[in-house]
Amino acid sequence: MTLSSSNQTSPIPLLTDEYLRHILEDSLEYAVVALDPAGMIVSWSPTAEKLFGYPAAEVLGQSGKIIFTEEDRRNGVPEEEMTLALEKGRAADERWHARKDGSLFFGSGAMTPIRAEAGEFLGFVKAVRDRTDYKKTVDSMKEKARLISLANLIVRDRDNKIVFWSKGAVEDFGFTQEEALGKISHELLKTEFPVPLAHIEEEFKRLGHWQGELISTTKGGRKVASASRWVANLGPDQTVSTILEVNNDITTRRKAEQERQEALAKLNILLANAPVGIGFLDQDLRYVHVNEALAEMNGRPVPDHIGRRVQDVLPGADGLLERLLEEVVNSKEAQLNRELSTGELGIQGPGRYFSANFFPVFTESKQLLGVGTIVWDITDQKQTRGKIKRILESITDMYLSLDSEGRVIDINSKAQAFMNEPREALIGKVLWEVLPYVKTNSQLPLQRALAERTPVHFEAESTMAPGRWSEVHAYPTETGLEVYFREITGRKQAEGKLIERGKRLGQSNRELEQFAYAASHDLQGPLRTITNFADLAAEKIGAGQWDGATEFLRRISAAAERMSKLISDLLAFARLGSFKGHAGAGVDLNSVLRDVKNDLDQSIGQTGAEIQSEPLPVVKADSALMHELLQNLIGNAIKYHSSERPRIRLKASRTGSFWEISVEDNGIGFDPKYKETIFDVFTRLHGSGRYEGSGMGLAICKRIVERYGGQIWAESVPGKGSTFHFTLPAATESKSAK
Ligand code: ADP
Repeated sequence: MTLSSSNQTSPIPLLTDEYLRHILEDSLEYAVVALDPAGMIVSWSPTAEKLFGYPAAEVLGQSGKIIFTEEDRRNGVPEEEMTLALEKGRAADERWHARKDGSLFFGSGAMTPIRAEAGEFLGFVKAVRDRTDYKKTVDSMKEKARLISLANLIVRDRDNKIVFWSKGAVEDFGFTQEEALGKISHELLKTEFPVPLAHIEEEFKRLGHWQGELISTTKGGRKVASASRWVANLGPDQTVSTILEVNNDITTRRKAEQERQEALAKLNILLANAPVGIGFLDQDLRYVHVNEALAEMNGRPVPDHIGRRVQDVLPGADGLLERLLEEVVNSKEAQLNRELSTGELGIQGPGRYFSANFFPVFTESKQLLGVGTIVWDITDQKQTRGKIKRILESITDMYLSLDSEGRVIDINSKAQAFMNEPREALIGKVLWEVLPYVKTNSQLPLQRALAERTPVHFEAESTMAPGRWSEVHAYPTETGLEVYFREITGRKQAEGKLIERGKRLGQSNRELEQFAYAASHDLQGPLRTITNFADLAAEKIGAGQWDGATEFLRRISAAAERMSKLISDLLAFARLGSFKGHAGAGVDLNSVLRDVKNDLDQSIGQTGAEIQSEPLPVVKADSALMHELLQNLIGNAIKYHSSERPRIRLKASRTGSFWEISVEDNGIGFDPKYKETIFDVFTRLHGSGRYEGSGMGLAICKRIVERYGGQIWAESVPGKGSTFHFTLPAATESKSAK
């Protein structure tokens, strides 16, 4: 028989071999590949086609190495296999093989050399089948076995003597297999059982298994906690033959658990002793946790809360608390600093105030768990605040409290009324931004007090209501400014009046001095005349010369008369000082002028004076005084006439609320340097011999005009004439004039 290459259709000579045929016929599972002595493929069975993915035509004549993995080819595995097959007559083939598409399968089979009957070497036959699944199962079992050997496994006989002691047990408990085998396990490990051993054994017998936590002592004396599971292994007689014990070290878990418990216990103590009320409610608003303080605030013991809905615990709250908590659940947002009173919550006993925070509580995955509540008793604060508020309301001052930015925190009702703004318009607003008059008058000093932390005191006038004054005292605090202020308009007005009066008093004192001086000086004149002539008259009479005395007596009489005139003028002037004047509806100066002209009829006739007047206004003044004023000015204009016939002109013009009236003449005039002093008492520029007069006329005029808030002044060109101007307030309704 010969081994020859042939295509797949031609019968393979090798198949005549009994052995090969047997393989082929027996099992289609096997891929059968025949190789020539050089290792080239000469036959390729249909199963080989399927298993390796190559059609026969593609591989015949190719190297048999193609079915090996790349790594095996690199390592010379195909050659090794052939050598081994030749040497031993068979080479087992248990390895990963490669398919045409590159995927691998685990193959199991053998390679056998083929010889002719004469012993001539013809080639090899390789038979392989896919054992991938099997391989995987074996591998995983091996892994399991490895893990089991690592686990803490003990097998005891029914007397608890150790018959198996795993690697894991060695590692966990420290005893070697030699030390452990044959010992009673709970004696070796000084096991601490959670319940007496007898109970455990009784349960184990009944159920065939047991589990629980044990504490064992290692060889090194360390305590180890383990979760232990026992399973009975029944013998043929259905009684327990051995006990399999699996232990899991839970020391770290136990420790962590213990620490957690301790932390929780501490937290509980903390919560229980906290001086604030702390509670937690689930989503249905049932109390889950309540500390003593909260229970005390609610007026019910802790157990009365747990598991009960909020409205059942505090039915008197009329749903208030329930609504607040529901809002937190719905909005998932906290309700902070809610002020609640025992009254609102329907809690019996003395009135108390609470400040409560209600906030949503979430799990780590942001799921709503319920509502937390923290409550403070603020009764004391509230009462103190109330007291302070009452004090601030009862003080006479207006009061404001500002924060560091000047925002209004508090205000008493007096200040509010003064500012004429509702409370809401002011609270929380920067004072000088809402009130423009504070901005203009008080912002700077208040800001200075805040910035420099120094008290400031100042007076400010309201620009809204000019004339309204306040006195402000501002004191910095830790957080802002306390401002006290009061209206001082009355005091300010009184002060103003006082100053005005002082001024007038000063003026009147000066006038009095002048007056006294002038009076003593001017009255001395006629008095001296009288004394002199009286002496002369006495001499004459003593000498019996009665006729000579008559002349002296006449002169004495004239001086006395002059003195009397002076005195009466003085009296008139002095009276003016206290004369209030009655400025009724107003005086028509045209009619006053008419009367004055009548009175001056004689001198007008004597001098041939001509008086012209524009229509004169109605002024707010007293008619008698107006008569006096015009009579003096026109009288002087006639009296101090020049050689020419006196021509007198009256004019009127309006300036604001005043009328200016001028009296112009063409008389002798006067030196302008006296234009001020001629208005003083007893000032006379033109000798007393030529012109009659007392020097009081212009002083009286000045006093009259000034009485009404007007002014009087004069201008003159000597030899040409003089003009006297005066102003008087216009009557509200001017009847005539322009
Ligand atoms: P008398 O009683 O002297 O007139 P007045 O006070 O009326 O006193 O006037 C003061 C002085 O002013 C007069 O003495 C006179 O010298 C001067 N005087 C007043 N009016 C005129 C006038 N129209 N023309 C010139 N001088 C005048």
